[in-house]
Amino acid sequence: MPHVLIVEDNRSLALVAKSFVERFSEFKAIVSTSREETKSIIKVNPLQFTAAIVDLNLPDAPNGEVIPDVLAANIPVIVMTGSYGEEIRQKMTGYGIVDYIVKQDKGAYKYASELVRRIHKNRSTKVLVVEDSKSEASAMQYLMEIQRFNVFVAYSGEQAIQLLQNHPDIRLVITDYNMPGMDGFEFSHRIREIYDKDRLAIIGLSGYEKSRITSRFLKSGANDYLTKGFAYEELLCRVNLNMELLDYIETFQEAAHHDFLTNLFNRRYFFEKGKALYEEAKQSGNDLCIAILDIDFFKKVNDTYGHEAGDFALKHLAQMLSETFSNEMLIRLGGEEFCILFQKNAEQASQSLDEFRIKISKSTIDTYKTKFSITLSIGLTDALGENIDEMLSIADFALYQAKENGRNCLIYSEKREEDLVEFKHNSRVSVR
Ligand code: GH3
Ligand code: MG
Ligand code: MG
Ligand code: MG
Repeated sequence: MPHVLIVEDNRSLALVAKSFVERFSEFKAIVSTSREETKSIIKVNPLQFTAAIVDLNLPDAPNGEVIPDVLAANIPVIVMTGSYGEEIRQKMTGYGIVDYIVKQDKGAYKYASELVRRIHKNRSTKVLVVEDSKSEASAMQYLMEIQRFNVFVAYSGEQAIQLLQNHPDIRLVITDYNMPGMDGFEFSHRIREIYDKDRLAIIGLSGYEKSRITSRFLKSGANDYLTKGFAYEELLCRVNLNMELLDYIETFQEAAHHDFLTNLFNRRYFFEKGKALYEEAKQSGNDLCIAILDIDFFKKVNDTYGHEAGDFALKHLAQMLSETFSNEMLIRLGGEEFCILFQKNAEQASQSLDEFRIKISKSTIDTYKTKFSITLSIGLTDALGENIDEMLSIADFALYQAKENGRNCLIYSEKREEDLVEFKHNSRVSVR
């Protein structure tokens, strides 16, 4: 678990800071109450610290003397100060600290904790700086590296496009407007042909303080805009706002695609992503199978052991599905019905499904209050049909046959109503 170093001589404030950090950033907080103690802590293992929240004023370091010590250990520093003035600000930004926060109330520690979480995320976040002036590019690189981003630099739009192709996981682009060749507008346009605003943020930069440039940048697909000569704090705020927005969108998208109880994909996502895989299989002739798995007599599980135990069983099944079919797309279609999309042929799929059917029937669901087990009926098809809905209904008909056949079995079907074939010991045996 990553650690956060809190340097604060006031013990009650240190405890407030510690509790906020541990609540909002899920990191372990280590408290130090002096410069001397800080030095000895960071000497042992500086790499364990994601960041340090440092009081500017300590009895053995009244003027922030501890800050260079911590920075020298390559630990990003967030400074907490009792008072604020231009002189302090200048000194702090000169050190290369991430941010300084005035200790007004508990909100200050919440802000610091969120910043720690941001710094931690930044370490695995790629940023691209596009700037034709070498000195301005390296100045921007420095400011972004203070925040611990992985920074790439391009000196032209053309070079930047190349870098984006090589690093499709770049999350933020900071681009100058005035560049020879492709300017910032055209470059932003080009990016937006490839990446939507929900995957990559663009912040436009310009030396011209004209609002027309702002609006043109935004119309070209930029998310935000900064005029050169900006204060570091403004850059930090804009970058954080944009990264937070991307994170929120990602969280919402994740939630919209997943089933809340089991965390498998939901029905809606199946029709979105499954359709794409389906079209691909139809065009390329690649293998594709759909299996529907339904728990047998699940109503009885609820009736006998309670709804909570039923939920437990659903999670148990989802967990075992995830472990067994980690390379396949797993969906909770609804209720106690699950679906697997295999990019395999029916023979391979049926073999692993039947092994899974036996495995689940032998596994015990232990809710700590009661123990029971479940069985599955499975319908499988590799018949593509006219569209994915039809393919799903063929699998559903196979499932219906599995239920008719006495449950706890797998039925393969190529057609909706006829020619049903059951796989038994890997050989096709006709049911009808
Ligand atoms: P069959 O073998 O024919 O599939 O019988 P079954 O009892 O499994 O099927 P049925 O469709 O009659 O009942 C499904 C039950 O699943 C009824 C419903 O209460 C329960 N169920 C659906 N969603 C959930 C859930 O999220 N949690 C729990 N605990 N139960 C659920
Ligand atoms: Mg103090
Ligand atoms: Mg059922
Ligand atoms: Mg059902």
